[in-house]
Parts: sequence; C-alpha cells; structure tokens
Amino acid sequence: MEQTLSIIKPDAVAKNVVGKILSRFEDAGLRIAATRKMQLSRADAEAFYAVHAERPFFGELVEFMISGPVVVTVLEGTDAMIKNRDLMGATNPKEAEAGTIRADFAESIDANAVHGSDSVENAAIEIAFFFAQKELS
Ligand code: GDP
Repeated sequence: MEQTLSIIKPDAVAKNVVGKILSRFEDAGLRIAATRKMQLSRADAEAFYAVHAERPFFGELVEFMISGPVVVTVLEGTDAMIKNRDLMGATNPKEAEAGTIRADFAESIDANAVHGSDSVENAAIEIAFFFAQKELS
C-alpha cells in the first residue's frame, strides 16, 4: 500500500470542483487517507516549494498558492504516486491528455488545478509536511 500527497490548488477550490476532483481519485481505486482544507501562509508555500526556490517562476508560484484556500489530501492505494500523476496530466494544461484533471479543470501552467508528489520519496516528505501520523488512516 503506497501513499502520495495531492493538493487541490486555489483555482480549482475557487471553481468549486473539489468533490469532482476527489471523485476522480476514488473512481481510479485510490482511497482518501486524510484530507484538509486550509489557507497556506507565505512561509508554508515557500517551504513546501523550496526545491523550486531558484526557478524564475518561484515568486508567481508562491503568490498563486496563497491566493486562496487549498485542499491537501493523502491518497492511498497500489502505485498511488504514479496513478495520481497519470490522473493529473501534464504540468501545462495545454499539453495535458484529454480526460486528465488538468485538461478538464486547469487554465494555465500556474493555475493548473492540482499538485501531486513526483516520487515515493518526495511523497513521504510532503505528507509529513502537512499531516501527523495519527491523522493517517
Ligand atoms: P508538477 O509536478 O507537474 O506540478 O510540476 P513542477 O514540479 O515542475 O512545478 C511545480 C509547479 O510550478 C507547477 O505545478 C506549476 O504550477 C508551476 N510551474 C512550473 N513551471 C512553470 C513555469 O514555467 N511558469 C509558471 N508560472 N509556473 C510554473
């Protein structure tokens, strides 16, 4: 059983498609081990995306991630990390395959609806960033 972290970003929360996105995970056989709606602080967003600190889009990324509430979710299941990445689609929604979350709900490369851990190792780090062990079923 593998776990991975998903974030429904402020654009998708504002569009009121949280339930539709969570259903995609469940329909693909993933389970919701924990979930929480929250407002990230600037310090939260900068720390979470620290790996991108030197990238030219870092400032825009942080501003966007604190522009409204997000929904952080731990997904659980066989091959959860890669399954979630497949459901998300490409980073740029214009390049995302039809039927993926980003193709269906995202507008642009920064307002791209969802985050998903990109490796099992990063998933463990990202889950621990948001959730205590006792919150994970
Ligand atoms: P992901 O794993 O598919 O989310 O993509 P990355 O880890 O490469 O990038 C993290 C996030 O940074 C993406 O989801 C985008 O929101 C944002 N991002 C990546 N590349 C760009 C870019 O070229 N411009 C802008 N504005 N944002 C970007």
